[in-house]
Amino acid sequence: MKIKTAEFVVSNSKVELCPNSTLPEYAFIGRSNVGKSSLINMLTGRKSLAKTSAKPGKTQLINHFLINENWHLVDLPGYGYAQVSKSTKRVFQKFITAYFEKREQMICAFVLIDSRHKPQPIDMEFMRWLGEHNVPFCIIFTKADKLKAKNLEENINNYKAEMLETWEEMPQYFITSASTKLGQDDVLDYIEEVNEQ
Ligand code: GDP
Repeated sequence: MKIKTAEFVVSNSKVELCPNSTLPEYAFIGRSNVGKSSLINMLTGRKSLAKTSAKPGKTQLINHFLINENWHLVDLPGYGYAQVSKSTKRVFQKFITAYFEKREQMICAFVLIDSRHKPQPIDMEFMRWLGEHNVPFCIIFTKADKLKAKNLEENINNYKAEMLETWEEMPQYFITSASTKLGQDDVLDYIEEVNEQ
């Protein structure tokens, strides 16, 4: 898919206030600093569509962008800022879970994972929550340029192994870099394919 137009639509703190539209939407989410803003800018070919400066703890918003006038890209706030309590209490902001529970036009969530790190409990927990709530999702590994090919492959294989302890199969995944644009076509073509179904 070629990106012809990409426009900011609106920011909201409540799912009820999100655009009253039937356009399909694709949500991007991950822990703070995972590279979400950089990825959104890379995918859309816009330098600063998503703001890269948002600091954890600042007002957390659901940002809608209209792409090619026929789908919404949704930039969701990161999860896992709050101290993970010693019990396995979930720390996803309520409005994030409300978004996934209520937003019927949400077609697929892209869960961003920093390819440099070992599987993190909060990401595993979040994907488990998505699974339990029947929310379709894919994984996007970010910052692939920061690793040597061999280490990248090793990390992805470790990730797969850990996912397969919970999941019957590895969800669809993409390997990306905002610096080299690796994965840009793969992710956009996937969205186009799903939109056409
Ligand atoms: P966000 O908090 O998830 O929106 O993360 P940002 O997009 O602001 O990125 C966090 C930091 O990682 C910034 O310093 C980015 O320049 C850097 N970064 C993000 N994506 C990449 C990438 O693909 N490659 C490299 N080398 N750095 C990246």
